[in-house]
Amino acid sequence: MANIGEEIRRLHALLPQGVQLVAVSKFHPAEAVKEAYDAGQRIFGESRVQEMLQKIPMLPDDIRWHFIGHLQTNKVRQIIGKTAMIESVDSEKLLDLIDAESRRAGTTTGILMQVHVAKEETKFGFYPEEILDYFKKRRFENLTNTHIHGIMGMASNTDDTDRVRADFAEIASLARQIKDICPDLRGFGTVSMGMSGDWQLAVEGGSTLVRIGTAIFGQRNY
Ligand SMILES: *Cc1c(COP(=O)(O)O)cnc(C)c1O
Repeated sequence: MANIGEEIRRLHALLPQGVQLVAVSKFHPAEAVKEAYDAGQRIFGESRVQEMLQKIPMLPDDIRWHFIGHLQTNKVRQIIGKTAMIESVDSEKLLDLIDAESRRAGTTTGILMQVHVAKEETKFGFYPEEILDYFKKRRFENLTNTHIHGIMGMASNTDDTDRVRADFAEIASLARQIKDICPDLRGFGTVSMGMSGDWQLAVEGGSTLVRIGTAIFGQRNY
């Protein structure tokens, strides 16, 4: 297995200024997270609610946990107040529920809206027309306890780098269009894209947040 601390330091040195690293620790034990933490990593990504809730009390409390998996509505309440950011908000219904639960808990939750551009991959996320419509209609104005920091997306899972580049270009373009539609939207600008196999292309395409798991922690045992 790769040396986790070395890999973290290598990535920190390689990533340009303005691009943050989410170390995706799903399916890896708390000890692995601690190794990355000791090398200076502070943002970790998890995709399952139970797994994240188990790890949190075992680890330093200045870790910022990003939730990156499909979030079922019946689990929202469990992670409000525990997660620094929910990157995978894939429907308006989920967004409104996160807002209601955050209000109930007396907190504000940071989120990214997940967009669906890859042709054959995940079925989750807003379609480009849907997310643009959401902002054109200024539907975020009814949110009181949620801060939309930007968008998250995935490229097609393919060796065709032209395809991957085009997907990243589309995600970055959506973020720019949203800013043009709503220039008064404060603190909107995060573009979360890029994983172990494609993060260099994502950074070239305008990513500000890369989510890297396998390249840091090794293969996952599902
Ligand atoms: C698992 C996962 C990653 C990390 O993928 P790797 O290929 O292991 O780097 C990134 N983003 C999301 C949404 C994931 O579910």
